[in-house]
Amino acid sequence: MTDAVNLLDFDLDGLAAHCERLGEKRFRAVQLFRWIHQRGARDFDQMSDLAKSLRAKLAGSAEIRPLPVLSEHRSTDGTVKWLFDVGAGNAVESVFIPEDDRGTLCLSSQAGCAVGCRFCSTGHQGFSRNLSTGEILAQLWHAEHTLRRDLNRPERQAGERVITNVVMMGMGEPLQNYGALVPALRVMLDDHGYGLSRRRVTVSTSGVVPFMDRLRDDLPVALAVSLHAPDDTLRNELVPLNRKYPLAELLAACKRYLDTAPRDFITFEYCMLDGVNDSDEQARRLLALVGPKGPVGRLPCKFNLIPFNPFPASGLKRSDNARVQAFAKVLIEGGLVTTVRKTRGDDIDAACGQLAGEVQDRTRAHERMVRAPIRVVRPPPASAT
Ligand code: SF4
Repeated sequence: MTDAVNLLDFDLDGLAAHCERLGEKRFRAVQLFRWIHQRGARDFDQMSDLAKSLRAKLAGSAEIRPLPVLSEHRSTDGTVKWLFDVGAGNAVESVFIPEDDRGTLCLSSQAGCAVGCRFCSTGHQGFSRNLSTGEILAQLWHAEHTLRRDLNRPERQAGERVITNVVMMGMGEPLQNYGALVPALRVMLDDHGYGLSRRRVTVSTSGVVPFMDRLRDDLPVALAVSLHAPDDTLRNELVPLNRKYPLAELLAACKRYLDTAPRDFITFEYCMLDGVNDSDEQARRLLALVGPKGPVGRLPCKFNLIPFNPFPASGLKRSDNARVQAFAKVLIEGGLVTTVRKTRGDDIDAACGQLAGEVQDRTRAHERMVRAPIRVVRPPPASAT
């Protein structure tokens, strides 16, 4: 750690305030911000349109601090996964997934995670600490400029993108690191930064209800909710945060979020676990949950079914393809838009938390989970849809 101010910690207003403290006008902050985020510059001497006096002031007091890269893995399908060192034996992951019409970057918000979902490799590692805004943005900064250099297109031209979408879906529960998350989102959306639209930046949450409401008011980007179960009994087991914010409260927050959301639906993520949450009956219960007779009435939503990525000692298995398709069929026939996520980067362990899992289990969360094997409770059939 150095005493220098990390300029990646600032959104544009924060950088303008910092420049003012150095006796500089706001437009200098805009220039500096563009050098950092659009051109990937770290060396102040390179910033040729800034006055020499400002460059000297910055060189003596500030830096653009990248995260050390522990490893970079490239899959044959184009997926790239970086493992970054965040100190004290902690590592976080970012994954770039190229598709025909988009390039999606998945970012981490915390080292480890306190929510402790049963099917999640990160959850088994326990919680170490929140990432700073600068550490969240350093992942994006590194990915953007590494991919640009690969393509020999070092600077972003108008209307041209390598990373078209960002999802806060890597390690950590982003809404439990709200103070650092929001300035990072602002930089992603800022036209002088990465210029992404609110529809193309997604925050994924396991259901931290109070902060879903704050995000709705402060900066409503697209929202994905990790659902994974059709009833409280099972969700309490799979996503322990459900004990604090049960399904009726979570769905009510989803409905409120739609008032300001950039999309007119909520995406529900549903990890398909063999024999745990993947029966036709459970699919029918999901239909009931978000249908007109559910706790909040009809909730506009789509489902994204995620094949579970097994990891050692999870004690869980991936639902087979036929089961996933049958489950999807029930949802689709019930009128819900449903997609099945393609597995990407299998050859490089691209599922969240799998590489960082080599880092020690700091809080013994995994031990606790293994000592308390999952109880699968089959609910009675739904009465109506
Ligand atoms: S799924 Fe998300 S919220 Fe749950 S333990 Fe993993 S990182 Fe945390």
